[in-house]
Amino acid sequence: MNSRRISASLAIALAACSATANAQSPKAWCGLLPRPANAALPAVTVKPDWFKVYRAAEGVYAIVEPEQWQEAISYLIVGTRSALLFDTGIGVVPIRPVIAQLTKLPVTVLNSHTHYDHMGGNWEFTRIAAMHRPFTRTSMAGLPHAKVAGEVSADAFCSRAPAGLDTARHHVRAWRATETIADGHRFDLGGRTLEVLSVPGHTPDAIALIDRAHGLLWTGDSYYDGTIWLFAEETDLVSYERSIGRLAALVPSLRQLLPAHNTASVAPDKLTRTLGAIRAVRSGTVAGKAGEGGELSFEVNGIAIRTSQKALARAAATKP
Ligand SMILES: [Zn+2]
Repeated sequence: MNSRRISASLAIALAACSATANAQSPKAWCGLLPRPANAALPAVTVKPDWFKVYRAAEGVYAIVEPEQWQEAISYLIVGTRSALLFDTGIGVVPIRPVIAQLTKLPVTVLNSHTHYDHMGGNWEFTRIAAMHRPFTRTSMAGLPHAKVAGEVSADAFCSRAPAGLDTARHHVRAWRATETIADGHRFDLGGRTLEVLSVPGHTPDAIALIDRAHGLLWTGDSYYDGTIWLFAEETDLVSYERSIGRLAALVPSLRQLLPAHNTASVAPDKLTRTLGAIRAVRSGTVAGKAGEGGELSFEVNGIAIRTSQKALARAAATKP
């Protein structure tokens, strides 16, 4: 999320995530669409066309919402017996009808983490696996309109709010997990196994998903092309550095990263660079640019990180 995409302290408090580091106007991201990395993927036509769907890999659909400033990406991963939906989007247009156009198999939802821009459509589904964390249980209650009003403001959309969305009442609906999971959990979809990697940091319940056989890693908000937000109260930089280290160690075995914002196909070595960047930020070897409310922006070797004095101080106070 770019600072121009924040409705003051509200969004800072919620502090989701992503987007472009170089936006000069509130809607500058719109001029970057479609992002070349997405445009290079085979497109799949669905209705409504609010969702742009791409074949990100064999049996993997990236479901992008480029017209809303989060540019959230959900992924439908299809096996021979079942499918897994990794995130459910911003929630301004129902996503389940789109999933129904892509697969007839039973679908389980799993969230990369439970910030509002990734669980907006959870309520539409009956099978939801979730991490067993207090942060996740709090997220299940949803969020009232006041907390997400900025996400449906005029600035939040490239053209206009999608048809059928009541921008005066939009809120994140409550949902319920039907299954709890932990690090190492495997989803056998038939001909395809996905393994959950607990990677706390961005949030306490952040996970990555790996398909070892195909070298695919879904990174959630731990990595995406854009300024990485490590800003929120629930962000823990010590855990984040450890988690990025865990993911970076996998790079030699990976072919593709599939992040939760902006672009659906990223070279794995970005993780190595992100590890270098967060180490430099935490050790104080690079200078940050101060912004509003104690926020600090860093650019290290092509990786942009936005954190805060507070988050850095919390991390410095943590015993090794
Ligand atoms: Zn996000």
